[in-house]
Amino acid sequence: MNSEIGPQEKIIRIAGSITVDELAGALGLSVTALIGELFKNGIVATINQRLDFETAQIMIDELGLKNVRLERKNTAAKLTDENRRELSKDAVVRPPVVAVMGHVDHGKTTLLDNLLKKKTVDTEAGGITQHISAYQMEYDDRKITFLDTPGHEAFAAIRQHGAMLTDIVVIVVAADDGVKPQTIEAIKFAQGANAKIIVAINKIDREGADVERTKAGLAEHGLMPEAWGGDIIMLPVSAKTGEGLDKLLESILLVADIEELKADVEIPAEGLVIESHMETGKGSVVNLLVTGGELKVGEFVVAGSSYGKIRTMVDFQGKPKGKAGPSAPVTVTGFKDLPNFGDKFLEYADEKSARKAALLNAQGIASEAASANVTSTDLLRMMNVVDNSKVFNVIIKGDVLGSVTSVVDSLKMIDTKGEVTLNIVATGVGDVTENDVYMAAGDNTVIYGFNVSVPTNIAKLAARDGVEVRNYRIIYELLDDARSSMEDLLDEEIVETELGHMEVMGVFRITKTELIAGGKVKDGRAEVGSLVRVKRKEEELGEAKVQSLEKEHIEAKELIENEIGGLAMQTEKKINLEKGDILEFFRRETRKRKLGE
Ligand code: GDP
Repeated sequence: MNSEIGPQEKIIRIAGSITVDELAGALGLSVTALIGELFKNGIVATINQRLDFETAQIMIDELGLKNVRLERKNTAAKLTDENRRELSKDAVVRPPVVAVMGHVDHGKTTLLDNLLKKKTVDTEAGGITQHISAYQMEYDDRKITFLDTPGHEAFAAIRQHGAMLTDIVVIVVAADDGVKPQTIEAIKFAQGANAKIIVAINKIDREGADVERTKAGLAEHGLMPEAWGGDIIMLPVSAKTGEGLDKLLESILLVADIEELKADVEIPAEGLVIESHMETGKGSVVNLLVTGGELKVGEFVVAGSSYGKIRTMVDFQGKPKGKAGPSAPVTVTGFKDLPNFGDKFLEYADEKSARKAALLNAQGIASEAASANVTSTDLLRMMNVVDNSKVFNVIIKGDVLGSVTSVVDSLKMIDTKGEVTLNIVATGVGDVTENDVYMAAGDNTVIYGFNVSVPTNIAKLAARDGVEVRNYRIIYELLDDARSSMEDLLDEEIVETELGHMEVMGVFRITKTELIAGGKVKDGRAEVGSLVRVKRKEEELGEAKVQSLEKEHIEAKELIENEIGGLAMQTEKKINLEKGDILEFFRRETRKRKLGE
């Protein structure tokens, strides 16, 4: 944590969490004042208690401190935008990293396929496997790296990790369909990631394609085409016929030149984990994007809490590679366990230092997670913004990133009409781990596994800690389970059925808890066990429950229309029943509800 005071604005940078003491100091408040403010919001905090980023932000808002701005400080283990810019004078030109994004069916896959087919360095190897998430091609003797965009979730994750690894976003818009919601999302993503935008106006071979109208639609969302005096390159293309694809590649290289994309190669290799999964016989298979230095087979690397010696390294077509430089996507084996998507990796000199670094990272990650003992969800719950009993906490584990993404996306699509909040506590690739169980314990969190395994010791640990681990191989079954768990959290519906009315003819006994009276059933019936609303004209005097009924001094189960009888009722407070009052008999039942009812 550190703070700076500007002329009007104060910036407080928080890495993970901040103690009450530190926050008070940074805000220039006394610790007691801050503790008092937290207390007002239902949090009993001590001076050393750690608050997470969101909680600190909410407290600052609550205190009305408009001139204070909180910023997340990236922890050292993560690749930041900043350290990409800290280049030495020896830095060399590197290939651009390009993401192709756009609305569904606008032609992203076709475009990427055709670009790769057209110019891939070596087409014979082929065999692009399902899990590969980055490709590299050569055009004009220069390399271009393409990142596959499995879902926007993944980009959110990349952004979250502070790694602005996309240099250029090619936004694909179908000329016969125009700007659509995911086009706008892609624009926002590119802007948020500080990436340069090139628009490919696709499907120009189609009847109904209208390039100018598409440009107008883009201009409405802030992308002004060069032809209209703006600075966005917009190219008419057909992913199908191949028209305009050369121009697109030339433009990518042109933008790369203008941006002067560079990287150091004389430094220890570093980069980012962009996909990881387990494969039988191979162990962990990890896709890396090198961002600096040169990664070689036999080197030691650390990513988050896992480390290993690079055993094999292949390019996206499965061709073995001895080394990989900046912007190269490679698939490696040798990590001892699965690093997480978005983790930065770094080369280490030897096994000993790699192991030590991984251990320190593991402790750092654990203490960062454990140290924020007040989270924003806790705070919002305490402030009664979110009803605790209506939050469904889940941890999602999947075999590959793509499956985690689809589970997360599909879960988010379950419409609870705002009645139940889905709280995704954590997601990850790989088997359910001890850490998942620790995270889930005590907070009613369900761990969903999708195509993963739950080692026996972990299952035992979960059982001991009362954590539910639900493992599925079919996504629809997982979603059904989640839906019904959320339905369980819905308030039950109360259904009342009216039975009949009686007019009171005489009152025999009134105590705090009992009423004995006689009367005549005007309509419907009176039943033992039914509830009673006592009414005097329109006024409701109270509620009671029928204990017993009698007809001509003989105990009865019910009295029907026009019958005269006596009844004993149980009450919760004293009701001054009088002759002429009306007893309304009814049943009250609760019923489970389904989502969407
Ligand atoms: P994605 O969902 O954005 O990846 O879109 P796809 O690449 O799967 O394309 C959706 C459909 O549009 C497919 O049937 C493609 O064959 C078709 N398509 C893509 N590009 C073109 C194009 O330039 N011209 C025509 N006529 N069809 C295209």
